Amino acid sequence: MKVKTRFAPSPTGDLHIGSIRTALYSWLFARHYNGKFVLRIEDTDFERSKSLSVKSIFKGLKWLGLNWDEGPYFQSKRLDRYQEVIEDMLKSGNAYKCYCSPQSIEEERIKQLHKGKKPRYSGICRNLKTRCINNKYTVRFKNPTFGKVTFEDKIRGEITFNNMELDDLIIQRSNGMPTYNLCVVIDDLDMNITHVIRGEDHINNTPRQINILKSLKAKIPIYAHVSMILNENGKKFSKRDNAENIIEYYKKGFLPEALINYIIRLGWSHGNQEIFSLSELKKIFNLDTISKSSSSFNMKKLLWLNKYYINHLPLFYVSNILKDYMKNENIKIENGPNLECLLNLYKNRHSTLKDLVCSLRVFYEEFEYYDIKFANQYFILKNLYILKNIYKKIQKCIFWEIKILSEIIMNQSIESNTELKEINMLLRFVLTGYVSSPNMSSVIFLLGKEKTLLRLKNAMIFIEKNYIKLQ
Ligand SMILES: [Zn+2]
Repeated sequence: MKVKTRFAPSPTGDLHIGSIRTALYSWLFARHYNGKFVLRIEDTDFERSKSLSVKSIFKGLKWLGLNWDEGPYFQSKRLDRYQEVIEDMLKSGNAYKCYCSPQSIEEERIKQLHKGKKPRYSGICRNLKTRCINNKYTVRFKNPTFGKVTFEDKIRGEITFNNMELDDLIIQRSNGMPTYNLCVVIDDLDMNITHVIRGEDHINNTPRQINILKSLKAKIPIYAHVSMILNENGKKFSKRDNAENIIEYYKKGFLPEALINYIIRLGWSHGNQEIFSLSELKKIFNLDTISKSSSSFNMKKLLWLNKYYINHLPLFYVSNILKDYMKNENIKIENGPNLECLLNLYKNRHSTLKDLVCSLRVFYEEFEYYDIKFANQYFILKNLYILKNIYKKIQKCIFWEIKILSEIIMNQSIESNTELKEINMLLRFVLTGYVSSPNMSSVIFLLGKEKTLLRLKNAMIFIEKNYIKLQ
C-alpha cells in the first residue's frame, strides 16, 4: 500500500499554528513512508472563501518547506464529479430527496429540544412515494438506522458511534451545491488517500463519512484525529491571539526551522529530545507518540528555539535570510560592513531576525537622535575630552585592526584615569545610539573608520552645542 496523505484547508481565513501542525504531521507521515502528500483546497463555501487566503496558504507551506506532490486540487473545480456521485446515490437508493422546508425542520428541532431530546431529522421523506416536482429539495444520505460505526483512530484508539445517533446527512443543498462531508469523502476516495490526519473537531464527521464510503463500497482510510492547541491562557486560539497567521511568524523574524521544530513538539515526542531537523524528522516521525491531550502554545519556548537556530544554522544561510529582512526595511547593506560578519558578532544577542535588523540598522544608516535620558548622563565635559582624544587616535590609525582599536580604548582609559567600562559605554552610546552592544573594538572595526569618525565628530559638536555651554 502506497501511503498517501492530504492537507485540506478551507481558504476562509488565516493559516494558523493548528492547521500547520496537521499539515506537518501529514507531510512527515507521507515522507517517512516514501508516500505522497496531496494539497487540496476546500473552497465550496463560496461566500467565505477568499483568493487571498489561498495565496497565503501556498506562501505559508512553501516558507516552511512543506512541498506537495499532487495538487493543489480545488473542490470548486470538481462540482461535476460530486454531482455525478449524488445522481448515482439517488439511483442506487443510498440517497433521497427531502422536500421539508427549512421552517418545518426548525419547528421540529425546537419541539425535540422542548422534550429534552437531541434534535435530529425525522426521516419523513425517506420513503416518499409521490414526488413534489415543483418544490425545492435537498438530497440526504440514507444513513443506516441500526448497528454501529467503529473505527480505530491512530491517536485515540477505538471510537464507536451508534447509527441511531446519526442523522440522514444532507449531501446536496437546495441550491444544488454539494455539502462539505460529501466533497471530503469523494475527494479522499478519488485521490486514494490512505491516512486522514486532521483536527479532533472532525471526529463527529468521521462516522458519517465512513457510512457514505461504505455505501459506495469504497475502502475506508485510516483516521488520526489530532488534539487542539490552546493559547498561553489555556483557551482556544482566537483572532485576538498574536501571530495567529503563520505568515506573521515570518514577519516577526522566525526561522522556518525553529517554527517547524516548535510545532512538531506540540503534541509529539521522541524521548526527551528537543531539537529536530526536518531531515531527521522524516526518518523518525510516526503517529504512535502523538499525545491525546491538548497542548499549550508557549512563546518563550518558540523564542528560545529561534535563538538556537539563529546561532546553530550555517552563518551564510541565516545571513541570506537576514538580507531579505534588511531589504524589506529599506536598509541598503551595500553601504556597510559584511552582513555575515555582523551576524556573527550579534547572533547570540537576539531571539528574532527582526530584533537583529533593529540592532544592525545602525551599521548602515546614521541614527537621527540620542536618547535624552542617556545623553544627559554621558554628555559631560570630561567625556568630551575623551571623545576628542579617541577621535585623534582613530584618525591617525593606519592599520584597521580589532587589536589596535582595543589598544586605543585601553590607553584612553589609563590616560584619562577612567574605568574601561565607562569608556566603552560612552563609545557605545555615541557610535550606535544604544547602551548595549557586543565588544566595542569589534563594533568599531565593523562600523569602519569613516562612520566612526563621523559619529564621534557629530557627538562632539552636539555636546558643545547643547551641553557644555550650559555648564
Ligand atoms: Zn424531508
